[in-house]
Amino acid sequence: MAIEIATIEGDGIGPEVTQAAIKVLREACGHDALDFVMLEGGASSYQKTGQVLPQETANACADMAAILHGAAGLPGVVFPDGTEVGNELHLRLRFDLDLYANVRPIKLLSGVRSPLRDADTTGIDYVIVRENTEGLYASRGGGIELRNEVATDTLLITRKGTDRVARFAFELAQKRSGALRDGQSRVTVCDKANILKSFAFFRRVCQEASADYPDVELDYSYVDAMTVHLVKRPDFYDVIVAENLLGDIISDLGAATVGGMGISPSAEIGPAHALFQGAHGSAPDIAGLGVASPVATILSGVHMLRWLADRNDAPGLSEAADRIDAAVVNVLAQGVSLPRDLGGQASCTEVTEAICFALN
Ligand code: ATP
Ligand code: MG
Repeated sequence: MAIEIATIEGDGIGPEVTQAAIKVLREACGHDALDFVMLEGGASSYQKTGQVLPQETANACADMAAILHGAAGLPGVVFPDGTEVGNELHLRLRFDLDLYANVRPIKLLSGVRSPLRDADTTGIDYVIVRENTEGLYASRGGGIELRNEVATDTLLITRKGTDRVARFAFELAQKRSGALRDGQSRVTVCDKANILKSFAFFRRVCQEASADYPDVELDYSYVDAMTVHLVKRPDFYDVIVAENLLGDIISDLGAATVGGMGISPSAEIGPAHALFQGAHGSAPDIAGLGVASPVATILSGVHMLRWLADRNDAPGLSEAADRIDAAVVNVLAQGVSLPRDLGGQASCTEVTEAICFALN
């Protein structure tokens, strides 16, 4: 029986990159393995129905095996109180389904030029695990503004939230064992423990969890130093675990070092659910022009196949994931069908077709 995937194309370039990923996934897995159930959601859905996350979509996301998402948000679409609808859909799914680990692989593929000059760019291959349900973003909508003079938000760090994301990072480092050239498995805790008590607590809870993973080296970095290291010596990193806002910032920096948002995948994993989408937003400036890169969403689909393969004991999906990965690497390395954001001329459709062709 086909595995059902709750699929939300969303806004802006969301529909084109989602269709591209579906085409490649169907081509690689066979047409009957996955059933992409199309659902409404996002800013365009809000304009049509008054709902960012219609009940039917929420139910399907809760019930189905995984969620594939394009991107959400359109400029100028606002709630009655004047706040932007933005990617509210995505935030609600994150919090409702407790998608606590946001996994952002940062890997330089051959054929893609890094803007870094001084660094050893041949070894950029690390993963940022961003805590996705608390930190400063837990304050979302709950901040206080006083008399147009003062505003505050709360940075929330809990033992439970930190311990589970730290363990996720250590287990990922164990699975990646051997990914680094020095043969080491390493988790770097990214924080600002020297200034804020909440970050010192985050660091301490990560350190306590590390006792159960003696084979993984524990490393720390203050976030400001980290931005320098990710530019100067990115090859040192294996798995980085960070609070929500810090993880958001360093993952865009990391993406920029390996070709940008159009190539960077993202997966958000919870205890029972997972959502896969490119690390980029809805890019309304290029929507409908056919020039968006589908690579980020296709690679997010690869991650989805591996996640499904593990949970459903379906090695065929894992094998399909390997084939798509190899096809993407081939297409980029050949340099003929490169998307615009990687310096090429190929449209979203042409890149997608080249990847499908490389599968065969
Ligand atoms: P969000 O608030 O959702 O994080 P954002 O404001 O950070 O969104 P993005 O939508 O991620 O912005 O995109 C920033 C810019 O990067 C876009 O305006 C677009 O020019 C470029 N971009 C993003 N995604 C892609 C893509 N898949 N292909 C090509 N260019 C892209
Ligand atoms: Mg962004």
